[in-house]
Amino acid sequence: MTTSDQPTRASLPYAAQGRPESGEQWTERYRGAVMNTFGDPQRVLVRGEGSTVWDVDGNHYLDLLAGIAVNALGHAHPAVVRAVTEQLGTLGHVSNFFTTEPQVRLAERLAALLDVGDVPVRTFFANSGTEANEAAFKATRRMGRTTVVVAEGSFHGRSMGALALTSKAAYREPFEPLPGDVRWVPYGDADALAAAVDDTVAAVLLEPIQGEAGVVVPLDGYLARARAITHEHGALLWIDEVQTGVGRTGAWFAFQESGIVPDLVTLAKGLGGGFPIGACIGLGDAATLLGPGNHGTTFGGNPVACAAALAVLDTIEADDLLAHATTRGDQLASALAAHPRVAEVTGRGLMLGVVLTEPRAADVQKAALDAGLVLNAPTPDRLRIVPPLVLTEAEAAHATTTLSAVIGEVLA
Ligand SMILES: *Cc1c(COP(=O)(O)O)cnc(C)c1O
Repeated sequence: MTTSDQPTRASLPYAAQGRPESGEQWTERYRGAVMNTFGDPQRVLVRGEGSTVWDVDGNHYLDLLAGIAVNALGHAHPAVVRAVTEQLGTLGHVSNFFTTEPQVRLAERLAALLDVGDVPVRTFFANSGTEANEAAFKATRRMGRTTVVVAEGSFHGRSMGALALTSKAAYREPFEPLPGDVRWVPYGDADALAAAVDDTVAAVLLEPIQGEAGVVVPLDGYLARARAITHEHGALLWIDEVQTGVGRTGAWFAFQESGIVPDLVTLAKGLGGGFPIGACIGLGDAATLLGPGNHGTTFGGNPVACAAALAVLDTIEADDLLAHATTRGDQLASALAAHPRVAEVTGRGLMLGVVLTEPRAADVQKAALDAGLVLNAPTPDRLRIVPPLVLTEAEAAHATTTLSAVIGEVLA
């Protein structure tokens, strides 16, 4: 573990107030005050800059998780800080009885980035991934059909609607009954999908790459088959880009590689660069499935979140971060794939799954944290690497050297 000299304890306000200041003490206070839905926090973080975060005990870490694929521009990126600060100092919130320039600009910008020619594109703004998916789920009900076909291994969120569409039984079962008429298919199996979709199906919901399942990539042509199958039965194709979207895989949206035009696209994680925002985008006829009175939100589409997202999109474009994500991702993937204890590296761009030869991912994750690397272990044998898109070549090299050593030690 590395120790840095900044920020100094004395510079931190709570030290001056004489409060407990070690990570252990803050964790104790956390246990007494924060609902225990996440287990104990791994560290108590105080500051971030670029791809580095610092904890309250003065250690620093290379952040290969980016708040779970959220901090696309890393921590405290000046463009996001400036956009949020200026917007909050100008007009912070107005309710959806009104609109604002950042909201309209962001909706137009997302439509342009989807790059679907004359197809109408309309966005509903929310505050998170699960909310973006709730909006899309409600839109599917406007088809006059109720069945949604979803893939095993899927993750779509924790609110009741999105949870109904999330595969993990341990997440779902304690909260049943959930909205019904959900049909499950194995992910990546186009024939199984064809067999499951009939004229009663409102929508097929797919992640272009499954994130929480450990970065699972379907065979080429899967999304194109899904598009053909849904067209054939008059069903919507709903693509959940909450994790894959906004440059993560080296494209603006991961589905674009397949050349399809979906009906619904949901976004969240990377869009606000750390500021909460979600988006449910309807294309073509799906752009008007939800009409006045059908859905709403108080905070969704607020100008601060939209300004943050515009700053993220501008920076990705100006700094050529799509190409950068591909280059850095290839660098990480090729170095890690060479490790004798790594069976495979999955994913695209800066969304990578490291499949270990033994189910020791949780142990590797803990040891990596002690060695100064933040990442996570979504399944027993997979590590997930979703760093800031601004990760430098030197940081990527440090990451692979350190992680290779840790994997070698844990799986000795
Ligand atoms: C994280 C995630 C969600 C849920 O987003 P929240 O902001 O946590 O509600 C939905 N879908 C996918 C694919 C995700 O990765």
